[in-house]
Amino acid sequence: MPTVPNRISQKVTHFTESVIREMTRLAFQHEAINLAQGFPNFPAPEEIKKAACQAIQDDINQYAITWGAPGFRRAISDKYREMYDWEIDPERELTVACGSTECMISSILALVNPGDQVLVFEPFYENYGPDAIIAGASPVYISLDANRDWTFDFQELEQKIQDAQSGGGIRALILNTPNNPTGKVFSLEELGKLSELAQAYDFYVITDEIYEHIVYDDHKHYPIALFPGMKDRTITISGLSKTFSVTGWRIGYIIAPEDLTDGIRKIHDFLTVGAAAPLQEAGVKAMQTRGQYYEKLASEYRQRRDYLVDVLQDIGFKVWIPAGAYYIMVEISPLTDLDDVQFVDQLIKNYGVAAVPGSSFYHRPELGRRFIRFAFCKTQEVLREAAERLQRLRD
Ligand code: GLN
Repeated sequence: MPTVPNRISQKVTHFTESVIREMTRLAFQHEAINLAQGFPNFPAPEEIKKAACQAIQDDINQYAITWGAPGFRRAISDKYREMYDWEIDPERELTVACGSTECMISSILALVNPGDQVLVFEPFYENYGPDAIIAGASPVYISLDANRDWTFDFQELEQKIQDAQSGGGIRALILNTPNNPTGKVFSLEELGKLSELAQAYDFYVITDEIYEHIVYDDHKHYPIALFPGMKDRTITISGLSKTFSVTGWRIGYIIAPEDLTDGIRKIHDFLTVGAAAPLQEAGVKAMQTRGQYYEKLASEYRQRRDYLVDVLQDIGFKVWIPAGAYYIMVEISPLTDLDDVQFVDQLIKNYGVAAVPGSSFYHRPELGRRFIRFAFCKTQEVLREAAERLQRLRD
């Protein structure tokens, strides 16, 4: 049957299916090791799994309050007070949603009007473009320069912000730190300057801090909300997925000033009603985690990072050593004349390892043609097997 153009909305025609999820399907089909989609293959903490099972047994099986179970919100607030010295009112400034993915789209829909312009650092996690389009907004891209260790030019950024004035100005900046896919952790200085710009040009900052506990070496994660003058214009998003290795639970949360929270809660309610009630109970346990857990999480990821970085460098890729998160961007040009999509296709079919083509992180595919992304959130055993397979690239 011929495609009838108006059977789907125009919005949907402006973005493609997720390449990351497509790579997972391809990996499955060809029995390749999946270093494409970023999810751990090792178990979640025992205590937290027990708490989830117990909650189901205790019949916490009906809807939680739409914006989050009160105990979970209190536990989040306690964690932020102790960890970041940040006072958050769990009744008025917190919303629990289905993963940071829903947190992001709910926040954008609540704060951004159709026609508004939204700043997005590029390369970007592939959801942000479609999120902006679904909200009817136009993304304005700021380039993180691979040749300068994923830094960006402040003058160029300010120029873009000024250019946007004639179209009503920038409404929000989407900031993902630690960053997927580059592994960049925005520095204190960069965040300071961004917060000055946000105040000077009056825009919101919507942050995705889902990798907040996965930082390496001397790098440190700073929530931009805590910079002077920023609490009132920052929407901070994080969740359980990466910190507690439960990406399939879909439990995230949004910290925002009361008036913005009101709007976000409305959108969230009508989108999904609420996140899984028993898993929010387990979230209380997760949020009560203190002590060595976070250091251990980061140091185990550092070992995986170091291992895969060495393997990829040995093979001949140009590698950017990530400062945070659990992805490695590499340049494929030293090894091949193929483009990113063709090369990943070969990797999956002929070498049995899946990665993500770099073009899926850029609004113009040609900008990402020389990159691919590997995820290293896997056991040493799986990483070793992947390394053996990849080493055949040298033959
Ligand atoms: N954040 C993960 C990645 O970038 C998983 C994305 C997803 O499929 N939700 O691979």
